[in-house]
Amino acid sequence: MQQGSAIRCSNCGQPFNAHVYSYIDAQKDPQAKGLLVNQQINRFQCPNCGNVNVVLAPLLYHDAVKELLIACVPMELNFSKDQQERVIGDLMKQLPKEGFKAYMFNPKRALTMNGLIEMVLGADGVTPEMIDEAKKRTARVQKFVEASDAELDALIAAHDSEIDLAFIQTFTSLAQRLVQGGRPDMAQAVLATQAVVVQKSSYGKELQQQQAEQEAVVQDVADRLQAMGAGARREDLAALALDFVDDEMRLQALVGLVRPVFDASFFDLLKQMESDAPDTEKPKFARLNTLLSQYIMLIDQQAQLRVSAAVSVLQSMLEEPDIDAAIARNAHAIDETLIAVLNANLQEAQRRRDVQTSAKLKAIYERVVALIQQSMPEEVVLVEELLQAPSLDDARAIVMDGMAQHGETLIDVMATIAQQLDEEGRTDLSERLHILIAEAQSALGPSA
Ligand SMILES: [Zn+2]
Repeated sequence: MQQGSAIRCSNCGQPFNAHVYSYIDAQKDPQAKGLLVNQQINRFQCPNCGNVNVVLAPLLYHDAVKELLIACVPMELNFSKDQQERVIGDLMKQLPKEGFKAYMFNPKRALTMNGLIEMVLGADGVTPEMIDEAKKRTARVQKFVEASDAELDALIAAHDSEIDLAFIQTFTSLAQRLVQGGRPDMAQAVLATQAVVVQKSSYGKELQQQQAEQEAVVQDVADRLQAMGAGARREDLAALALDFVDDEMRLQALVGLVRPVFDASFFDLLKQMESDAPDTEKPKFARLNTLLSQYIMLIDQQAQLRVSAAVSVLQSMLEEPDIDAAIARNAHAIDETLIAVLNANLQEAQRRRDVQTSAKLKAIYERVVALIQQSMPEEVVLVEELLQAPSLDDARAIVMDGMAQHGETLIDVMATIAQQLDEEGRTDLSERLHILIAEAQSALGPSA
């Protein structure tokens, strides 16, 4: 629960409004929990002088799933025992009235904010030792970021054996916190340092090597799918999957590439094939079934994670008053998932008749699409243009110009997009393309 309070800057005396937390519900407000464990709760930067003001306020933390209720009345407030009890009684009034359970009558006590954070993290399985390690890592990361280029090389060499995944990930979380704290410039510096660490440390090199190997495997599987052609049937795919039954990397890549193929009918087919197979072959099918189910779960979870990541990127874009700055800062995160999330939110805002949000979402959408078009091959942009051209004649003119510049590759791109549209059932759009493709081919003459 947030309360709007007027606070006065301890440095310059400027009064300003701040949302002081007195209740955190871990399920309903995970962001507040994030602020708490990152020691950012009830810290407010003065809009006038930039001084960070820490507001010491009594706080009630509630996690219904873990049946955890902690009241924190910071020692520094110097409340008497009676005052503390009264304050805790007041805090407890913020608990939901329904579903009151035994643990809620007797909250645990934390004497300091740090104590509260330790208890919250402890309930998540994070020990004080782990917190200490993380603090040390963060301090070291900061040292790396502040170093000059030459110093950084020396630091990487000196700490090479300690550079591991946790260390490299610390850069990412530090950058995230800086972005949330309104310092994208500093976040950029942190990520630039991270890139150097990945490039020059032994562990980073190993990581790059692994990534390159993974990419090669994915490429190989993609090539085999491509070789099966557009007319591939479920049976062909099942045969390919069986080929990979002892090659987990390739099998995983296959699921990642064509996840939608692995539906209920596919597994029915697999069952059928298993019962038709000789006894010696049957264990292979059982193994394939288990592995496929695992990878499908993994990939669906990853997709879910990508969606939540896209949602938070979009959220931060919406909060930023300057849309161009917001997009520039999140350019690396612009992908299909973000566009799908953006679209869904736009529709939802329109349905709610939330004019302000939908206008902003629309502005973001247009800029994002423009950005993607900038990075697309010119031929694809041309095809989009001719699809949107007001008449067939206008489209014809675009094809003429385009052919002069790009020659036959333009026809190839047109054919690919026409095929995609056909597959999506958008024959209203593909019809124009088919006409133009036929015209362009006959214009090229019989050799084409
Ligand atoms: Zn101030």
